[in-house]
Amino acid sequence: MHETGIATEIINIINDTMRNRPAVEVRQVRVMIGELTAVLPESLNFAYRALTENTALQNSRLVITIIPVQAQCRTCYKPFAVQEFTFVCPFCGQSDIDLISGNELYIKEIEVD
Ligand SMILES: [Zn+2]
Repeated sequence: MHETGIATEIINIINDTMRNRPAVEVRQVRVMIGELTAVLPESLNFAYRALTENTALQNSRLVITIIPVQAQCRTCYKPFAVQEFTFVCPFCGQSDIDLISGNELYIKEIEVD
């Protein structure tokens, strides 16, 4: 399950970031995830909870925002939302497109007390 690996990475980043501030408690971690990463938010939350149990992060929670897939056509240059993984321009029907978003996976914000 690749969510466990991602949760582990997120926890490592939080721990690195908080290393010099041991007295501060992490409340909430905002994570941005592109639709194309195929990460399931429930699975990621579950993995995060399991991995932070009985650690300094056990009272923190993940807030996951899914970023939709956006693309731009290379023929007519119009931007559009990719629906159901159909990588075809809805304006001119070309499949020669550039992805603008959808592959993201990063921590946007760590909220502390
Ligand atoms: Zn087009």
